[in-house]
Amino acid sequence: MAELEIRNLSRVFGATRAVNDVSISVAHGELLCLLGPSGSGKSTVLRMLGGFERPDSGSILIDGKDVTNLPPERRPTGMVFQSHALWSHMDVFSNVAFGLKLRRLPRQDIRQRTEAALDMVGLAGFGPRRPTKLSGGQQQRVALARSLVLEPKILLLDEPFASLDQHLRERMREEVREIQQRAGITMVFVTHGQDEALALADRIAVMRDGRLEQVDKPDAVYRRPRTAFVAGFIGQMN
Ligand code: ADP
Ligand code: MG
Repeated sequence: MAELEIRNLSRVFGATRAVNDVSISVAHGELLCLLGPSGSGKSTVLRMLGGFERPDSGSILIDGKDVTNLPPERRPTGMVFQSHALWSHMDVFSNVAFGLKLRRLPRQDIRQRTEAALDMVGLAGFGPRRPTKLSGGQQQRVALARSLVLEPKILLLDEPFASLDQHLRERMREEVREIQQRAGITMVFVTHGQDEALALADRIAVMRDGRLEQVDKPDAVYRRPRTAFVAGFIGQMN
């Protein structure tokens, strides 16, 4: 059974068909990249998966359960955005532990899980530091830990590294891969960067004007683009 089943999802804003009849299944432990130019509907799909936006039609199933109408906090999903919005008045530990505190877990569990999450993103021992004193990459790792600590089944990432420089972006890709394998987590990763999608994805879903152009392994998208649009868009890499 697919971990995530997206069925005929559509969303209209005024005259804009932001998402137009999108269907994709994502397997457990798979990393799917949603790739497309700006305005192609990637973020709208992701926000619907996370429960931050309601679809006009279609449904979303996670492990066979229909979550289409559940609010974000009742879905087994975590979300990481480009702007991580850490709380600057709290230390790293409190930023990561925040969601667990809301769940009123015992203090010992909160400490253990928060430290494990920081360890997973390579920030063991960073708990007492202020987010403002960290580098951009470290801050984005704290944001990752803040999601991972809640043990989501599916992690949704919307251009999380877009504001980082090229070198750091490439390093973060490797880390995401490692985290994904270590945590056995399913990921949907939104990007407009062809190189990022080709480097990261198990499969790539190429979007254009709210529609899916092709869903395939990176190699197939690259070597056997199904449409002229995909060929042109992927070709921009070279
Ligand atoms: P992407 O993430 O691929 O850049 P988006 O999903 O953000 O694309 O947007 C898809 C289309 O929907 C765009 O034309 C955008 O302007 C429009 N759109 C997205 N969100 C809203 C909104 N809240 N209100 C009106 N239009 C929106
Ligand atoms: Mg977007």
